Amino acid sequence: MAIVYQDGIAGKVCANPECGWKPLTEFHPKRLLGIPVGDGYKSRCKECANAQSRAEYAAKIEKYRETQRKYVEANKEHYRKLKRDHQKAHPERYAEIDRRWKEEHREEINLKAKERRQKDLDHYREIGRNSYERHAEERRKYALEYYKRFPEKSVAASNRRRALKYASKITHTEAEWQNLKTFYNFKCLCCGKQEPEIKLTRDHVLPLTQGGSDSIDNVQPLCARCNSKKNNKHIDYR
Ligand SMILES: [Zn+2]
Ligand SMILES: [Zn+2]
Repeated sequence: MAIVYQDGIAGKVCANPECGWKPLTEFHPKRLLGIPVGDGYKSRCKECANAQSRAEYAAKIEKYRETQRKYVEANKEHYRKLKRDHQKAHPERYAEIDRRWKEEHREEINLKAKERRQKDLDHYREIGRNSYERHAEERRKYALEYYKRFPEKSVAASNRRRALKYASKITHTEAEWQNLKTFYNFKCLCCGKQEPEIKLTRDHVLPLTQGGSDSIDNVQPLCARCNSKKNNKHIDYR
């Protein structure tokens, strides 16, 4: 296409029929070994040229993936065996993937389990009773392992249980606790030390044992040391 002037400005009509005239600044130059080819500019404007290469790239990737899919499909047995061998060689890695998947889909999994249970309640109650008695030892071990792996969560759960026990039914959420820590810049309100130098714990301003609630407005972040020093006293560091 030739250079077309509009109001004294040099431009071109973009080769994309849905586009139109644009000034030359909107066209990438076209050169071969540094020498301009044709009118010296690409036939499509920058916008259209970029869109075209994006589309071409996407099509190429799609085609590449499709080829790969077909190849894997045609060699299914081979790839299955490779995967099995790989799993055998790296059991801990796959256990980790499995664990993460379960964690991410926990709600889904729980919901499905609940549905199954609802369908056959008596059966599951019977199983539950039996297994509860049979697995007391394992359960204790598991609880201990869980505590070691997720001390934060375990503490939160035991705080909730404790709060419920002491008649308060209000409990704060994990998000509220995170917000509170952020608000105080991750510092212990007693000694002023900051995470990660110390680990902040939830201190109940009015202790649960004295009727304090577990709601966020009765919680202050203290490091473990200050928390245990405060013990069962009612001190508001806020
Ligand atoms: Zn265009
Ligand atoms: Zn402290």
